[in-house]
Amino acid sequence: MNILILGSGGREHAFALKLLESKKINQLFVAPGNAGTDKIAKNININPTDFVAVKNIVLENDINMVVVGTEAPLVNGIHDFFLADNDLKNISVIGPKKDGALLEGSKDFSKQFMQKHNIPTARYQSFTKDNLEEGYQFLETLKPPYVLKADGLAAGKGVLILDNLEEAKTELTEMVSNQKFGEASSTVVIEEFLKGIELSVFVLTDGKNYKILPSAKDYKRIGEGDTGLNTGGMGAISPVPFANEEFLNKVEELVVKPTIKGLQNDGIDYRGFIFIGLMNDNGNPSVVEYNVRMGDPETEVVLPRIESDLLELFEGVANQNLNEKSFSVTNKTATTVMLVSGGYPETYQKGKEILGFNNVSDSIIFHAGTIIKEGKVITNGGRVMAVTSFGNTIEEALAKSYNNISKIHFDKMDFRTDIGFDLV
Ligand code: ATP
Repeated sequence: MNILILGSGGREHAFALKLLESKKINQLFVAPGNAGTDKIAKNININPTDFVAVKNIVLENDINMVVVGTEAPLVNGIHDFFLADNDLKNISVIGPKKDGALLEGSKDFSKQFMQKHNIPTARYQSFTKDNLEEGYQFLETLKPPYVLKADGLAAGKGVLILDNLEEAKTELTEMVSNQKFGEASSTVVIEEFLKGIELSVFVLTDGKNYKILPSAKDYKRIGEGDTGLNTGGMGAISPVPFANEEFLNKVEELVVKPTIKGLQNDGIDYRGFIFIGLMNDNGNPSVVEYNVRMGDPETEVVLPRIESDLLELFEGVANQNLNEKSFSVTNKTATTVMLVSGGYPETYQKGKEILGFNNVSDSIIFHAGTIIKEGKVITNGGRVMAVTSFGNTIEEALAKSYNNISKIHFDKMDFRTDIGFDLV
């Protein structure tokens, strides 16, 4: 089979490496990809939301399957675009259609979905500029901290958690009336603050059957001790020690099954990944958010732990016989630590040569913001590469990641030295 992966992060490099383990793969393309995918597949420099450009690549290269790594093409309807085109309708797309992608594309939709199907989540109401007064009144019924969320996609920046009621009212006004996050915040979800510790559970579904993939915990903030600004993610661990069997059984019964059943009952034919962001409050799961694709950097610890043929699983998704596919996961722990450009997530420089990563042994390097220029691998983004290692324990895996990081260098390289330390 010829496969096209859409995206350019560590997640897409991880997909590429995993798919290449399959005997069924013929040619692999990544658009736009990075320096890591360039080494193992053919990169094609297009924007994944340019569906006509994607179509041309698919037809020129006899692609049989498109794996959508990133959310924007899904929310914009790439799967629907393929189904509506006679030349493309038989090509498998791994990722939901526009109706399913709303689980991530609209927080109001996803909250309504959870409420309708009795899936545990924080109590909420949604507001626009037309019922702002009611928004203020709803805030007054809640205890701080106040959680305000832009309904639409806001590049991970559309959630505000505020301690002060007056500030929450001001921000609500800014969001709905003054478009603080553009069109994305013309509707705002206000919800109760959930206590507990966060983790993510990933599901692959063909719309009827599902496989629960390894769980992971990511580290979102730039600073040690999870302080400072939010980032795309600074590291991740899988499995999550506090997600024991009893908790994961609850997640399956109370969240996964009703989600799959709910999608079916609502007539949403969902083929792809569901990323479930969860709060674990004393052993009870509550859904914080759905995403309609894998997480990054969680993919860099989840996929390496999967022993089964990922391409076989994707065929199961496309042909709706995922239940017939074998699925196994290693018991080993995987850790990943993200190397970032100094200054990220604020301003930072690109174009720094990356040295030493070829000297790494016993870890996997997943490239993210990297590009090849004049034969050199240079930085091309805030998050540059993820260093993933296995161990019998979290400590053992982390020791390998950090030991290998000491061999890698680029100007102003930064990383967190405390990934996973809260769990050991
Ligand atoms: P992401 O970048 O994770 O995709 P997002 O913009 O889609 O973020 P959410 O995941 O809904 O938004 O919220 C971002 C973060 O805010 C969560 O990971 C969690 O830490 C925190 N958060 C969101 N909702 C709540 C809540 N009800 N109670 C406590 N914390 C919350």
